Amino acid sequence: MKFHDVIVVGAGQAGLSVAYFLRRTQRSVLLLDAEAQGGGAWQHTWESLRLFSPAAWSSIAGWPMPRSDQEYPHRDEVIDYLRRYEERYGFNIQRPVQVTDIVPVTGGFELRASAEGRRWYARAVVFATGTWRNPYIPTIPGRDVFSGQQLHSAFYQRPEPFAGQDVLIVGGANSGAQILAEVSQAAASTTWVVLEPPRFLPDDVDGRVLFDRATARWRAIQAGRPPESPANGLGDIVMVPSVRAARDRGVLHARGPLAELTASTAVWPDGSAKSTDAIIWCTGFRPALQPLVSLGIVQEAGKVQVQGTQVTDVPGLWLVGYGEWTGMASATLVGVMRTARSTAQEVDAYLGAFS
Ligand code: FAD
Repeated sequence: MKFHDVIVVGAGQAGLSVAYFLRRTQRSVLLLDAEAQGGGAWQHTWESLRLFSPAAWSSIAGWPMPRSDQEYPHRDEVIDYLRRYEERYGFNIQRPVQVTDIVPVTGGFELRASAEGRRWYARAVVFATGTWRNPYIPTIPGRDVFSGQQLHSAFYQRPEPFAGQDVLIVGGANSGAQILAEVSQAAASTTWVVLEPPRFLPDDVDGRVLFDRATARWRAIQAGRPPESPANGLGDIVMVPSVRAARDRGVLHARGPLAELTASTAVWPDGSAKSTDAIIWCTGFRPALQPLVSLGIVQEAGKVQVQGTQVTDVPGLWLVGYGEWTGMASATLVGVMRTARSTAQEVDAYLGAFS
């Protein structure tokens, strides 16, 4: 059985960033990715999606994202950038491979892809599987009797299918605001449902300020000072042009959480109800860590106990790119660099201890 020094599961921006830094070591690295092509989850985002920060603030390590002809790059430009990034560095990637299990064995780990009936072996493993494959929809009484269409934002592509319908958009962060802005121009009516009042950034700032906040927070914590900015600053809504236009059309009015759903209506705790044809759940994601469940380390909310990015209870296993709990802004293009670099350094040191 041939052991790779490192297997990285997932070749989206996080996995590619780790692979970039591992190039500086003499380790043998293989990436396994479930998609047939490069681009990670970006290839599944909706057609009109644009980044909430300029190209210069959306690059991963080593090669800046080419400038876009618009201030905020379109998702197609991100996909193209990630595919060309893979080619540029010639990573050793096998795809499509959906890893289903990881089993500790003498000398490291066995990784299994049950659909392909294949196995790989590695001395160290980095999971960078993102969240797209684990969309989250909250439990709402009556959701199973609602007869209209239900779609998670992970699968939303364009507004036309909702033309003339009464649509509920559930979720008060960037996806909810951007999909509301778009669907409200096609639907008969849209109703925005949020858990708490949405937080909008000022018009004159964009995603850069979210990264600045994350960096200031990271620096404060490194220096042992209490951080100023909120932990989950990345949830603040960036006033991209489509969301600003929706505000100017008076669309950005949010209602509080639902009490229940019936076959054709949404009902609020005060008893008010709204006839509803379709629901778009912009209610976020959970880490796509299903293959780790058999290790008994995945907690209730889908997270895992880590020290930085290293899994506390399983030596030789790291998690990169899952958001704040695996590093400030680590679920963003520019933010993942810090933890990708530190993870590569830790993996190299870990392997050195055994060579
Ligand atoms: P992914 O892109 O999901 O890549 C993970 C890879 O792992 C995929 O290729 C997948 O096939 C593979 N994989 C998963 N499970 C397995 C398995 N079991 N076996 C093998 N392979 C597997 N970030 C920004 O910086 N700027 C933005 O403007 C921005 N806008 C966003 C807008 C939306 C709507 C969303 C959802 C996110 C946005 N993000 C943004 C956040 C972030 O950049 C993306 O979510 C990005 O896709 C995360 O990259 P990743 O590599 O962690 O995960």
